[in-house]
Amino acid sequence: MQLASFRNEPLSDFKGNPEHFRRMQEALQEVKKELGAKYPVVIGSERIETKESFHSYNPSEKDQVVGTFSKGDAGLAALAIEKAEKAFDSWSRTPAETRAKLLVTTAKIIRDRKFHFAAWMVYEVGKAWAEADADVAEAIDFCEFYAREMLRLADRQPITPVPGERNRLVYIPLGVGVVIPPWNFPMAILVGMTAASIVAGNTVVLKPSSDSPTIGYKFFEALEEAGMPAGVVNFLPGPGSSVGDVLVAHPRTRYIAFTGSKEVGLHINELAAKHQPGQIWIKRVIAEMGGKDSIIVDSETDLESAVDGVTASAFGFQGQKCSACSRAIVDEKVYEAFLEKLKERVEGIKVGDPVEPETYMGPVVNARAKESILQYIKIGKDEGRLVSGGKEVSGPGDFIAPTVIADVPPEARLSQEEIFGPVLAVLKATDFEDALRIANNTEYGLTGAVYTKNRAKIEKAAERFHVGNLYFNRKCTGALVGGHPFGGFNMSGTDSKAGGRDYLLLFTQAKSVSEKQST
Ligand code: NAD
Repeated sequence: MQLASFRNEPLSDFKGNPEHFRRMQEALQEVKKELGAKYPVVIGSERIETKESFHSYNPSEKDQVVGTFSKGDAGLAALAIEKAEKAFDSWSRTPAETRAKLLVTTAKIIRDRKFHFAAWMVYEVGKAWAEADADVAEAIDFCEFYAREMLRLADRQPITPVPGERNRLVYIPLGVGVVIPPWNFPMAILVGMTAASIVAGNTVVLKPSSDSPTIGYKFFEALEEAGMPAGVVNFLPGPGSSVGDVLVAHPRTRYIAFTGSKEVGLHINELAAKHQPGQIWIKRVIAEMGGKDSIIVDSETDLESAVDGVTASAFGFQGQKCSACSRAIVDEKVYEAFLEKLKERVEGIKVGDPVEPETYMGPVVNARAKESILQYIKIGKDEGRLVSGGKEVSGPGDFIAPTVIADVPPEARLSQEEIFGPVLAVLKATDFEDALRIANNTEYGLTGAVYTKNRAKIEKAAERFHVGNLYFNRKCTGALVGGHPFGGFNMSGTDSKAGGRDYLLLFTQAKSVSEKQST
């Protein structure tokens, strides 16, 4: 199979292209009519309706049910692993080309309905139009990119010739993988971890987040439509604690691909490390976790563009990104000028229901998240000085005003802990050296950015700012598949570099085959 070189999916232009605007509005109307439908567990070729179910809600309209889901339990979790293992037998021997083709066909199905997928995200997790559109584009990118990567790995691999032998190295799949995504990139991350798994020849039990199962189900349907054999992906919504633990601990689980919080990631890592009776391998854990990401604003920079980058990174999707800027570390020479401009910009942000096209910030994902964020704001008011926001915004959803807290000390809780909401701490640095020291002072190491015009400072930060994804003179969110392989250091996870050339290796094992040539 010949595929054109990989190119990122273009983003929609809702402001400049009336056709994109119209199609998104139509998609929102159409999806609205489908809200509240019931969805089953899918194991092998069976669609199972359980007695117990749970709802996914629209965080902008908390009474509105987006979907009602059958609820997985321990028994179904074990059954799903069993069916995935059965499907592994033939799927692992299916040619790489066929597996790659499945992803390319799935990408086309998603592309044809991209506004509908985006609309589901507006309703289910409260993404603004542009954010939802970027999430869909990234999901398409993962399918297209990993299809090409699999073809590369399936090709002849370079090895040193050994006289008298015919040798090769082949990448074979691992077995049954458990895929556990978060709700915040409900499409891109779920699709990325699942697509990488199956294109490499593994089979999967996919447990979506209980805050965003509908989008997971819609992707599952796209895979089926593209011709995926039954059992290759098994769809099992349910509580992380009970269903997740059974899946992770199961002796036939070969690997876990997880993206989520540090706490859950560490728990999974520990549970997966424990040898279970009958288990004949060491489980692999791919765990991408939290962040406490900083943008350094140097004295030698254009403050307007620094304010642009910090605002977009801190408040895009309500700050609910692992890559979100939650600390601006600003040189004292430009500190007050930066704060003044930032305050003005942040106070112009429109908060509301993201069904409305002009909304920049929607709700936070649920009431629990809102309570936790408001608690951090309270702490922040004690630790620093409230500059803007700092309160709920009234409405039928969980809305919080974009919040800036200045003069936060580097060791304060607001500087150290992941808040995962629209709260930005601003810290004062005495100089560039001090800013770099502060930037490296958390347990995380995911993303970071530096705004400076000074070449020597760029070189210094490139070497010393210890994060998996570092950017200069641009925002610290918005990594592109292929261009910015993504993953963090330290407590941010295993640095898997999703969307890069190293990623599929995590879902395969290399087998060396050597044959003595007859003389
Ligand atoms: P979370 O850890 O609460 O949940 C993630 C997933 O784990 C969910 O599907 C959940 O149901 C499941 N889960 C919970 N308990 C489990 C258990 N005991 N066993 C197995 N699975 C279990 O995270 P979240 O709130 O969904 O997402 C937000 C977090 O994700 C933030 O910390 C954010 O930084 C992180 N994140 C990281 C990246 C990255 O690439 N590093 C990307 C996106 C989000």
